Amino acid sequence: MSMYVVGHKIPDSDSICGAIALAYLKNQIDEPAIPTRLGEISPETKFILDKFGFEAPELKLSYAGEDVFIVDHTEKTQAPDDIDQARVVGVVDHHKLGDLTSSTPLECWIRPVGCSNTIIKMMYDFYSVEIPKDIAGIMMCAILSDTVIFKSPTCTTADIKCVEALAEIAGVEDFKELGMDMFRVKSAVENTPARDLVMRDFKDFNMNGNLVGIGQLEVIDLAVFDDIKADLAADIAKLKVEGNRHSVFLLLTDIMKEGSEMLIVSDDANLVEQAYGVKPENDKVWLEGVLSRKKQVVPPLQDAFLKA
Ligand code: MG
Ligand code: MG
Ligand code: MG
Repeated sequence: MSMYVVGHKIPDSDSICGAIALAYLKNQIDEPAIPTRLGEISPETKFILDKFGFEAPELKLSYAGEDVFIVDHTEKTQAPDDIDQARVVGVVDHHKLGDLTSSTPLECWIRPVGCSNTIIKMMYDFYSVEIPKDIAGIMMCAILSDTVIFKSPTCTTADIKCVEALAEIAGVEDFKELGMDMFRVKSAVENTPARDLVMRDFKDFNMNGNLVGIGQLEVIDLAVFDDIKADLAADIAKLKVEGNRHSVFLLLTDIMKEGSEMLIVSDDANLVEQAYGVKPENDKVWLEGVLSRKKQVVPPLQDAFLKA
């Protein structure tokens, strides 16, 4: 029986490239595996797959009765809807430990590094499996994306060393320039409906019993949002109502200025000030130095919810 290797809902480049890279590794060690995805790929991921000659993994939403290896999260809200009827055989992740459990012993690769693909590279090394050139390319791009070309506070020495090694294998000389090309693709937001932008990198969290959605758009210049910010704000208000959420936050991250503007709709906007120590005005706030949702945005907010 083959296992399916799948990342989170609203897949990012780490989820997609990680599923492909890990499924390849598993197949080399006689554990048949098929990479899959839980949603449409982003323009950034399409850029990466096209560049190195890959098709997107098969779209598969139901996993009841199947073996599943989870990539890039351990959260029920981000897993397939019927994950409770599947057998979780493994996880590879670099986020806080979530609420996914397993019914049988599982293989667990969790490290506090900048990207799941950095851990997958460690797995290749552990099993002494050679990484093909094209797979090295997509793994490298996933790490550059998750670490915001090493600028994110989540980035570790392991991530940097890993990118350097993968660039060598992939034959990419200027990997930082390739990273900038990726973020240029990511910054093209014109002619895209507000809902598509809000959902492009959106995650729901359970914070002390409250459903909290946090989206993030990482661009090289926040000016791209000047004409559409009002539409984005209106759309997260709708999303809050539709999903019965306590709050929806949208992070507009400027990777060059290294900070994020947060758009806010919440049943209790005071939580934002409690979490980040800055007072929102007109339902938005500038968070200086904030690039990482997982490391800088979620933990203080979670604390604020616990104290509320
Ligand atoms: Mg991810
Ligand atoms: Mg990741
Ligand atoms: Mg990210």
